Amino acid sequence: MTTILIIEDEPELVKVLRSYLEQSSFKVITSYKGDTGLETWKNTQPDLVILDLNLPGMDGLEIAKNIRKQSNTPIIMLTARVEESDRLIGLELGADDYVTKPYSPREVVARVKAVLRRSGVDSAFESTMIKISELEIDLAGYSVSMGGNTIDLTRTEFGILATLAKNPGRVFNRLQLLEATQDGEVFEGFERNVDAHIKNLRAKIEPNPKKPIYIETVFGVGYRFSKME
Ligand code: CA
Repeated sequence: MTTILIIEDEPELVKVLRSYLEQSSFKVITSYKGDTGLETWKNTQPDLVILDLNLPGMDGLEIAKNIRKQSNTPIIMLTARVEESDRLIGLELGADDYVTKPYSPREVVARVKAVLRRSGVDSAFESTMIKISELEIDLAGYSVSMGGNTIDLTRTEFGILATLAKNPGRVFNRLQLLEATQDGEVFEGFERNVDAHIKNLRAKIEPNPKKPIYIETVFGVGYRFSKME
C-alpha cells in the first residue's frame, strides 16, 4: 500500500483529506505539529508527504528543507495564500507541488496521484486494490469482500465485476464483458448468459439486488459500474 503522511494542524482538514485518500486506497498517517511531523516522517518513511506551510513546532519550509537534505520523498505543500505559493516557487525549496487553500479534497488526491506518477512511485501506486464504498476488490488475489466479509465469486463473475469496477461510469455491452472475462479460456455461454452472471453478482454484492447501487443496467446497451459520486 502507498503511504501518505499528512502534516497539518487543522484536524478538520486532516479528517477530510484522510477520508478521501483512504477511499483511493492510500494508507494515511497524520501528524498535527511540525517537529513531531518530521519525526514521524523519519520513522515511517512514507511514499509522499502532504505538508501544511504554517504549523506549530516547526514550519513547513523547515520540514521540507530537512526532508530534502535526507531524501527525495515527494512533497505537496498546502498554503493558505497565493502569495505564499509564489514565495514557495521562488525559494525552490524542493516541494513537488503545492495546493492553495481552500482546496477541494478531490483535487488534492488528483495531485497526489500525479506527483506519485511523476516521481516513479507509480509501480507502488498502481494498486491492485479497488475500494468502492463497502466493496473491496483485490485484483491480484482474485478476491472480493464486502464490509470486510469475503464474498465467493466464480471466475467469470469476478472477471465481469473487475472489468466494470476498473472503469466506473463506462458502459460495457454484453459482448465486451464476455471478451474481457474470457481470459484465453473457452467461455461457457453466449451473450445473454452475461445477464445471468450479472444477476448472480448482484445477489452477492448488492445490498438490495432489485435496486442495484454498484452495477447499473443501461437499457438496450449493457452494464456499467456506478461512479458513486
Ligand atoms: Ca496550518
